[in-house]
Amino acid sequence: MRLGYALSVFLEKSGKVLVGRDTRTGGEALQASLVSGLLSGGCEVVEAGVVPTPVLAFATRLLKMDAGVMITASHNPPEYNGVKFWSGEGMAFTPKEEEEIERILQENPKRVEWHEVGSSREEDVLPLYFEEILRGFSLNRKFRVVVDCGNGAASLVTPLLLRELGCEVIALNSHPDGFPGRGLEPVAENLKELAEEVKNSNADIGIAHDGDADRVVAVDERGRIVDLDKLLALVAREEGKGGTVVTTVDASRVVEKAVEEKGGRVIRTKVGDVNVAIACKETHAAFGGEPCGAWIFPRIHLAPDGPLGALVLLKILDSGKKLSEMVDELPQYVMLRKKISCSSTQKEEVMKKFATMAKEMGGEISTIDGIRVSLPEGWILVRPSGTEPLIRITVEGEREEWAREQLNRTVQILTTR
Ligand code: MG
Repeated sequence: MRLGYALSVFLEKSGKVLVGRDTRTGGEALQASLVSGLLSGGCEVVEAGVVPTPVLAFATRLLKMDAGVMITASHNPPEYNGVKFWSGEGMAFTPKEEEEIERILQENPKRVEWHEVGSSREEDVLPLYFEEILRGFSLNRKFRVVVDCGNGAASLVTPLLLRELGCEVIALNSHPDGFPGRGLEPVAENLKELAEEVKNSNADIGIAHDGDADRVVAVDERGRIVDLDKLLALVAREEGKGGTVVTTVDASRVVEKAVEEKGGRVIRTKVGDVNVAIACKETHAAFGGEPCGAWIFPRIHLAPDGPLGALVLLKILDSGKKLSEMVDELPQYVMLRKKISCSSTQKEEVMKKFATMAKEMGGEISTIDGIRVSLPEGWILVRPSGTEPLIRITVEGEREEWAREQLNRTVQILTTR
């Protein structure tokens, strides 16, 4: 309730706010409380019910709301819940805007007077989204698709969109349920059933989302979960169309390889989908995406959109090539990751050490997020964690031997006093 009230203060008490939630059991309770806070702060509220995060963001802009609130804990376990704020243009709140909300939460301002209390109504916003997404979109072939929504918010969208496009859909975990049949993060250990079913049913592709469907991952027709960086590269090549593509500092070089093949260029930002969205807006990019499966299609909107991502994957398959063939044609690099423990007081000193090391290596250095040094053979990224006492090292090389050598050398230099 206090959070709803804080948002109304942020919007200066006269805002229109769209509220939605995913399928978590605590969603309705949180929604009631949040709406109560918004109303007592003088806001007009539209309740969208269970919707994917991208639908909430999309409808916030389309209905000319001042803000949107999505009640979800995304890919986290079902017992978790949280909120994510969206601006009137359908973009995630920036860290600065979130800080402002937190600052207001610390205060205890008066609620509005009785004659200024807001009102709420319900609206089904799904048809608005369906209409926009399907406009001008068609497939030439009839695909067999296995869809696993993790019983999350995508259950109400992705299977229906695909059927609308003539696909034969086999749905797993695709009825809304706060007691999901699998872990909500679309990672290998949670997708065994999907991979198995794709193979058994001779499907063309398997699609999975996280709990709030701002992410999408794929399984190829051979039942292999597609490497996330390679999948990102395929979509970036298709959607980039020779223009600008935005991705994060930790994404594989395979993205550049694929995008540059079509004459496009890649811009890298800090990790986090809001950073990708901001860069997409600033550079008028054709596409933006993170390797976790959060993909932004600026031609429609600036929110990462899992269901739309699923449609784009099918459009790519429409060329007639199998997904496994397209994936296997991309270059194979080796990515290695390691965390080293480091107290927050020592982080600066360790980063300085790496800055010196990076300079000596003579590559191209970027300090957008941590320090990243790019060399002909590959790249090294060293990032201090913002929340935990550790530093993350990522190395990608065209050859495994090179990557191992660089990782070992980096760890040695950073851990030697
Ligand atoms: Mg999510």
